[in-house]
Amino acid sequence: MRRAIYPGSFDPITNGHLDVIERARKLFDEVIVAVAHNDEKEALFSLEERLQLLKDSVGKIDKVRIAQFDGLLVEFAVAQKASAVIRGLRAVSDFEFEFQMALMNRKLETGVETIFLMPKEEYTYLSSRIIKEIARLGGDVSSFVPPAVSKALVRKFAG
Ligand code: ADP
Repeated sequence: MRRAIYPGSFDPITNGHLDVIERARKLFDEVIVAVAHNDEKEALFSLEERLQLLKDSVGKIDKVRIAQFDGLLVEFAVAQKASAVIRGLRAVSDFEFEFQMALMNRKLETGVETIFLMPKEEYTYLSSRIIKEIARLGGDVSSFVPPAVSKALVRKFAG
């Protein structure tokens, strides 16, 4: 059983994340989409909301499981018997931070490999941050996020 963890804040999940999940599914028997809840304070959506939006968006996809974790990612990966961590790479700007994390995680746990996947070009400029910014200003984000997220953003910023 080849299992991978796809960790992130997913605040909220976007079509870029979906693209990465689809690619990871082709390589692994199971992909665990894992929401980190260390940085709860800065999130727009609560942990429960982020988990619900993930359930609504990817909950029914075969071979995909949703989980939450706190603490060290590599420890969670070992506990889940996962051999890989998936991260998405959009641009050079992602690289430095991701490179540092990947090498640190390798130092902490040699049995877990980090795999970088690149999304379809049209998603390379998408980030949860920019989606929140557009939605906050009243822009239409429905072509960038799953329908449940689009609705949740409208609700969040209404009034
Ligand atoms: P984090 O807070 O850990 O960066 P995110 O939820 O923002 O978490 O993203 C999780 C992972 O998904 C990261 O590896 C990030 O680079 C990747 N990612 C985010 N948006 C996209 C996108 N549009 N295309 C590809 N990968 C993405």
